[in-house]
Amino acid sequence: MSDCLFCRIIAGEIPSNKVYENDRVFAFRDINPQAPVHVLIVPKKHMDNVLQCDGETAAALTDAVGVIARQEGVAASGFRVISNCGRDGAQSVNHLHVHLLGGKALQRADGIIHNVPRINRDDAHIITQGTASESWAFCRRNIKVL
Ligand code: AMP
Repeated sequence: MSDCLFCRIIAGEIPSNKVYENDRVFAFRDINPQAPVHVLIVPKKHMDNVLQCDGETAAALTDAVGVIARQEGVAASGFRVISNCGRDGAQSVNHLHVHLLGGKALQRADGIIHNVPRINRDDAHIITQGTASESWAFCRRNIKVL
């Protein structure tokens, strides 16, 4: 589509920071990154959003996610894949795309934090029952900022 931003990026009419391309998909860095790694993966064939996505395109996007996650060095540490759809999904560009985000511990929308280290009963006792200086000393020794 001539008036579609991502179609024009795929066609090279608008510059992008390309990270990957094959016959079905094109991937480039988001212009407004929300994480150290923020790549947009788009099908070359125009479709508005996931509602129009066929199985072959879904497979091509999924394959590209794996390739790019490894290429960007986030396959082992983990990452997030999202696709916003429609008004309530806050989609701002009407060409199907998935966001691949990683390179840091991402917050969940529900606020649950999964990667806080657990502490055992004895350590909890030092923090809650020890003196303030014991407690601070323990925290300085053991707690890493994520
Ligand atoms: P969404 O809001 O889910 O539709 O995502 C659209 C994304 O496209 C946003 O994260 C934008 O920052 C990004 N974006 C918009 N224009 C460009 C561009 N010219 N190059 C790269 N990313 C863009």
